[in-house]
Amino acid sequence: MGTVLFTNVRIFDGSGEPSYLGEVLVQGNRIKHVGRGSRTVPANGHTVIDGAGATLMPGMTEAHTHLSWNNASSLDAIFRMPPEEHTLFAAQSAKTYIDMGWTSCVGAAAAKPRLDVVIRNAIESGMIPGPRYLAASQEIATLGGLGDTTPPHVDSKELSFGWVVSGPEDMRKAVRTFIKYGCDTIKLNLSGEEMTDCPANTSPMSEEEIAMAVSEAKRRGLRLAAHARSDESVRQCIRHGIQIIYHASYATDETIDMLAAQKDKFFVGPGLAWLVNTARKAGPYGIAPDSPLGIYYERELQIAVETMRKMHRRGIRILPGGDYGFAWTPHGTNAKDLEYFVEMVGMTSTEALVSATKLGGEIMGRPNELGQLKPGYLADLLLVDGDPVANIRILQDKNRILAVMKDGAFHRTPDMMPSRQRIAM
Ligand SMILES: [Zn+2]
Repeated sequence: MGTVLFTNVRIFDGSGEPSYLGEVLVQGNRIKHVGRGSRTVPANGHTVIDGAGATLMPGMTEAHTHLSWNNASSLDAIFRMPPEEHTLFAAQSAKTYIDMGWTSCVGAAAAKPRLDVVIRNAIESGMIPGPRYLAASQEIATLGGLGDTTPPHVDSKELSFGWVVSGPEDMRKAVRTFIKYGCDTIKLNLSGEEMTDCPANTSPMSEEEIAMAVSEAKRRGLRLAAHARSDESVRQCIRHGIQIIYHASYATDETIDMLAAQKDKFFVGPGLAWLVNTARKAGPYGIAPDSPLGIYYERELQIAVETMRKMHRRGIRILPGGDYGFAWTPHGTNAKDLEYFVEMVGMTSTEALVSATKLGGEIMGRPNELGQLKPGYLADLLLVDGDPVANIRILQDKNRILAVMKDGAFHRTPDMMPSRQRIAM
């Protein structure tokens, strides 16, 4: 069994404790030893990586990933890519995530029914590089709700971005279909989205439909995730035990109280990058900042930021990730979320890093073996040039991510020679 010893590294272990200089020994696919200082284990017989003061930290988890969003400018444009090109695109996205240090991703909906599952399986079999991946269903949408992109004159679900349902039995069939395909999570669109015909602050899915989705998913041990901007849609998540709540912009104080009372049960992924960039950077794609939609998105951003500040103060788990894969939120820029958490939500940089690492292990359902640098944990590691606690932005720069290890194997091997001269900052 191969062993790799990282020496002379600044260890950020993901727990939230201050970083320290030390050593980490990886044996097989797990962390065997973590020590403070130097020469804590004999160096003999290991592949030794001298980090020259670089930071060693857990691989990060993206909590709301759409590998098959193809950097297009609308849901329809994403959907219309033919399956062959689309599969290749999603494979390329998977590589982008692990290149940028995201060694785990929670699929938050696929643009075609089996795309996420096929990519997850290809990663797991070693056919393509990519993160540990929880494969999502398509977005399950109500007729006329967010995700129903069929033209009014063509009644064909094959032309829809989301999987359209009407009524509980239709929902049962949808959920069972995605279980049959091999999905890990079921995604429901419980609220609308302002740029569509179903505005953000609406809640189009009925109680009966949601209850059916939850009971069918739970029967087979699957978790659910929801696009939930409206207050009522967040309440629906709480009522029905939908653990992964995306967006939550309009959650009221009373709803935040309810979440705080069960904060070990739920995860919130606000997806702030979507709001920031739709409000401010989508001008070339028809949403100018001073247009009605641009003004709307800026306002929802301000409301969402205020909501997240309250949730963070209450200890509710807030995770990075969200709707990267549009023209104005390209894949690979995901670490911007951590900067938003620090600059907008009021997290310390350590808290932002914990949300990407320790909380990532929790949302992946593996809190005891993923997301921290501890003996026995899976060896998903990043070697970073500099200290992300001092400057959270360095994680946005691929050149600063010197090495990426997943499951004990290097996805990117560190360049050993120059590391001797590297000056730690
Ligand atoms: Zn999304």
